[in-house]
Amino acid sequence: MFLTILEFAGVTLGVKFALGLALIYFLFPADGRCSACDGETVPLRAGRGLRTVGRVLRVERRWCLHCGETMMTRRAGSPPVQPGPVEQPQERNAA
Ligand SMILES: [Zn+2]
Repeated sequence: MFLTILEFAGVTLGVKFALGLALIYFLFPADGRCSACDGETVPLRAGRGLRTVGRVLRVERRWCLHCGETMMTRRAGSPPVQPGPVEQPQERNAA
């Protein structure tokens, strides 16, 4: 009787957990476009541990070239780039 209750609770919670993860996964954008400005994004290179977790879960961090936002997306397939220093806009002299 006790094992039946444990199995029922485990299956019930497991199904809820799996459905929650699937819902979160499908909420991530898959087209590689920025969700804020619809600009082009490039994948960021993660550390060793996060890269493995991201490969297993098929998600990646991407950086928008237009607005500078970083976001999680479903894996799009383009090669990762190393983030570099952001160029500051040059100041214009007021005439
Ligand atoms: Zn953007």
